[in-house]
Amino acid sequence: MRVSLSPSTAKTWTRCHGSVDMRNKVKTEKSEAQVRGTVADKLLEVRVRRLDNCVSPRVEGDDEAEEEALKELGVEDIQAVDVAMQYLAKREEEVGPLMIWTQHKIQILADQVGYVDLILWAPLEGMLETIDYKHGAGRPVFPEENEQLTMGDVFFKGIDRTLIQQHVHTIIQPNYHGHKEPVLTTEVPKDKLIEQKTRILANMLEIRTGSREFVPGEAQCLSCSGKPVCVPLAEHVLTPLGVDFRGMEETAESGVIGSGAEEISTQDAASVLTLTPLIRGFLTAVDRHANLSAKAGATYPGMKLVKTNSRKSWRLSDPETLDMLKTLETVDGTFVDIDMLATVKPLTPTQATRWFANKLNDKSRKFLEDSIVTRPGGVKLVPDIASEDEVVIDVMRVFDDLTSNSGE
Ligand code: SF4
Repeated sequence: MRVSLSPSTAKTWTRCHGSVDMRNKVKTEKSEAQVRGTVADKLLEVRVRRLDNCVSPRVEGDDEAEEEALKELGVEDIQAVDVAMQYLAKREEEVGPLMIWTQHKIQILADQVGYVDLILWAPLEGMLETIDYKHGAGRPVFPEENEQLTMGDVFFKGIDRTLIQQHVHTIIQPNYHGHKEPVLTTEVPKDKLIEQKTRILANMLEIRTGSREFVPGEAQCLSCSGKPVCVPLAEHVLTPLGVDFRGMEETAESGVIGSGAEEISTQDAASVLTLTPLIRGFLTAVDRHANLSAKAGATYPGMKLVKTNSRKSWRLSDPETLDMLKTLETVDGTFVDIDMLATVKPLTPTQATRWFANKLNDKSRKFLEDSIVTRPGGVKLVPDIASEDEVVIDVMRVFDDLTSNSGE
């Protein structure tokens, strides 16, 4: 049976063969951030293709795609794409003339292809650089031991590979502020690259010959879309939570501090703490999966769907933001600095109302309220005993929405 062993999911399937089937069991719907990431990827691709030294041919519709992307992205998104563009210019200064490929298709096996965001070839230095652009801020990605970059590198056939003296792997992740630098680069020695390639191919072969062993663990599970329905993962994260907390109760009852504390500081407690990111990731995925399934008509005994509040936030590119600023300027005659709305995170309507509350007169406050556009709230799965009223989902409408959202 043919299975998809793509470079972008290689971090998962090389570590856990069971993930190959598991991720097909979960229908995923892209979050708003993921959609923005895809649009940002497109913007980068279009802009790179316009560079004189880009080998990838221009594509019809690039101008429209760029226009569309600029409408959908916020200032911060566009600045993140600029970081990647600036890096390419800087690289040319450092290593001499470059040839650049973008969204380059690589042939992995006869029936297996993958795509690489950016590949740079510097003939003067004999340097091949494989780059992955990550728009998301959720999880940090590193170039070391990165299977996706390794696959992009070793299966690239755009040049005579005997000319390569140096392999460089790079992650550009401008939105992840945990990194000190938005660009992380590492040079990979040839023997190390061959070792990584051999490991990837061995895993491919094992999977293709039927191996489906589950290996729950942090790195692979966090990036696995199958996690909300994965029983081995559930056991892995929930078993340590079965820690016996009686010691803590005794401590509380006896009032003798420390009498039970030693029981709490057991290996079990330590393993729960070690697993914290994984437990959090697992529970979030289960929650999202259950909510999506419930909206599509699945029933969960003991749970009901209720209305949620809108989580609309303003971005500088939103017409509502500009309308609001214009309105405030007209009414108050005061200049409202656009940067005030784009602090660390975009403001939600509630935050903005609070923020402006002290600065506005009644008339302008009314204008502000009128200019707040909120989306109709969504629905959320909660325990049956919750006080909110249950909402009935029109299943057919949900499917209609899904179809129209998927662009079909
Ligand atoms: S969640 Fe973890 S254990 Fe389960 S299939 Fe995915 S990678 Fe494997």
